[in-house]
Amino acid sequence: MDLPITFIQRTRPLLGEEWEDFKKSLEEPSPVSIRLNSKKIDVNTCIEEGVAWCSKGFYLPKRPQFTFDPLLHAGCYYVQEASSMFISQILKQYIGNEAVKVLDLCAAPGGKSTLIADAISNESLLVSNEVIRSRANILSENLAKWGFPNVVVTNNDPADFAKLEGFFDVVLVDAPCSGEGMFRKDAGAINEWSEANVKLCKERQQRILRDVWPSLKAGGLIIYSTCTYNLDENEQNVQWISEELDAEALPVDIEPDWGVNPSLMNGIPAYRFFPHKIKGEGFFCAVLRKTGEDNPKTRKFKPAKEKPSKTTLSAEARDYIKDKENHIYYQNKDSWYAFNKSLYPDVQYLKSALHIISEGVCLGEYKGKDFIPNQSLAMSQLLDKGAFPICELSWEQAISYLRKEALMLDNQPKGYILLTYKDMPLGFVKNIGNRANNLYPQEWRIRSADIPREEVRVI
Ligand code: SAM
Repeated sequence: MDLPITFIQRTRPLLGEEWEDFKKSLEEPSPVSIRLNSKKIDVNTCIEEGVAWCSKGFYLPKRPQFTFDPLLHAGCYYVQEASSMFISQILKQYIGNEAVKVLDLCAAPGGKSTLIADAISNESLLVSNEVIRSRANILSENLAKWGFPNVVVTNNDPADFAKLEGFFDVVLVDAPCSGEGMFRKDAGAINEWSEANVKLCKERQQRILRDVWPSLKAGGLIIYSTCTYNLDENEQNVQWISEELDAEALPVDIEPDWGVNPSLMNGIPAYRFFPHKIKGEGFFCAVLRKTGEDNPKTRKFKPAKEKPSKTTLSAEARDYIKDKENHIYYQNKDSWYAFNKSLYPDVQYLKSALHIISEGVCLGEYKGKDFIPNQSLAMSQLLDKGAFPICELSWEQAISYLRKEALMLDNQPKGYILLTYKDMPLGFVKNIGNRANNLYPQEWRIRSADIPREEVRVI
């Protein structure tokens, strides 16, 4: 691997005697790992080698054709490199079962948001934000597939969050960075690297942190992470947060045999992942507690004005979800949504300040007398599977459905049918007798026509 000379000059002194091992590890193939959705499937059923710092993470012996595993599309797992799963260790230690409001500020495509959704309690709220619109759509798709209901996806600049003073208990800034830790996985990252870009990234990271800072409550946690090795974007930024923004860096429990490297600057608790010491890519993270006090007067709650619903939701549609007593139903534009009742005032508050891309569970919409169920309902952890006739698909049929082809279903009633693969919901069709209309979202469909001959089985 041809590393930039300046990168070598800057990184070699950081690693000392370990430099040669580090360099060698960059020539090796990237490990493949997935993280299971414990709110959809039993994590104990997996037989693969586990990721030491995340009980839901597993390594695979080789890279399968993930696109052709229907369970990936059903949100049963997420393909995520192992080092980043360390965030789960932080959440386990510092949050546990507490009900919290979490902001994932730089969230697309959604690796860490799906991890957070799996780690927090069912009474918690996740706001998952991405500033780039096209990436916010991918984020929204991945979160819909994951199916955690208490989530709001936003498309805002970090500065827009300043209005939500003291709102969040936890803010994750998985910052855009110079990407040194991705050199092995993504050759493009090498070409884009320059010393000037490291400086630019550091400045941008500080701007992002300063902008979002008011939205974190006093005593709340900021988790800061990057996938780069240099001190500038890592320890120096943690020091900057402590000194400029007022926070205290906290230790995270690690086991010595995990191979996690301590901080490279004395007195600054932080955690580093090097590919020659762990099975994963380069990663850095630290957790800090915001010190100081909140201004009790600053939170002005101004719920967005809601238009009265144009229609009423039928009792039948209310029964599409489990735990319906604890949910509020409301209409937004033409669609009907369900959201956890106790968190709904927070959603209204967010609506008054942010650009919302998706929220809670979209149940569907009326077209004439027909209520057309939405894909988000099929994917939701709240779906009551008993509410629809179910048709279990073979692998070939499932791939055909995910490619948005028309299906022929034998012995099925007319109307809306929930399709499953290995008992996991994939989406809806409307069976009209001689064929079934495919309701899978056009933008989500599998585009590749290079279909493997044999079933792809990952878990
Ligand atoms: N957390 C994501 C995950 O685990 O899947 C990966 C996030 S990636 C490291 C950083 C993200 O920050 C990108 O999605 C990028 O679009 C976004 N970003 C870029 N510039 C930004 C800015 N100025 N403010 C906030 N986010 C930015």
